[in-house]
Amino acid sequence: MTRASAAYGKPPLHITVVDVLDRASISYNLGEIQVARSVLVSRGDIDPLLAHEVGHYVLGHNNNFALDPNREIAANAEAVRILAKLNGGDEQIAFRRVYNWLSRQHASGATARGHFAPCVEINALLDAFPGQRAVFKRCSF
Ligand SMILES: [Zn+2]
Repeated sequence: MTRASAAYGKPPLHITVVDVLDRASISYNLGEIQVARSVLVSRGDIDPLLAHEVGHYVLGHNNNFALDPNREIAANAEAVRILAKLNGGDEQIAFRRVYNWLSRQHASGATARGHFAPCVEINALLDAFPGQRAVFKRCSF
C-alpha cells in the first residue's frame, strides 16, 4: 500500500487492524484504512479489496459515510489501475483479480453497504475497461 500511494505521489496510508467493523470487513476514511482481522487471515486474494480501498484514497473519497455507490464503481476501476501499476502494467491480470473478487461477491449473494449489487459493479467495470470485454463475460442477474 505504501508503494501504491507512492506511485500516485500521495503520502502513505495508515492501516489499522480492528476486531469488528460495523457491517463491513474493511473501510476507508480520511487517510486510514480499517481492516477487520478476519479479512487478513482469510485465504482468498485480498489485494483487490485493499486496492479498492487505496482507490478511494487516491480518488479523494474522504467521506466514507457518504455511501455513494458510484464512488464504489470508481474505486473498483481504480483498483485495476493500481494493481496493474504495481505488477508490471499488465491490465488484464489486474482486471482478472478485481473481476474475480467481484464475482465471488456475486456468488455469495451479498451486497455490501453503500454498493450497487455485485453484478452491476462487474458490468460497470467492463464498461470502464472496453479492452477487457472480449475476454471477460458480463454478469447477468
Ligand atoms: Zn468502497
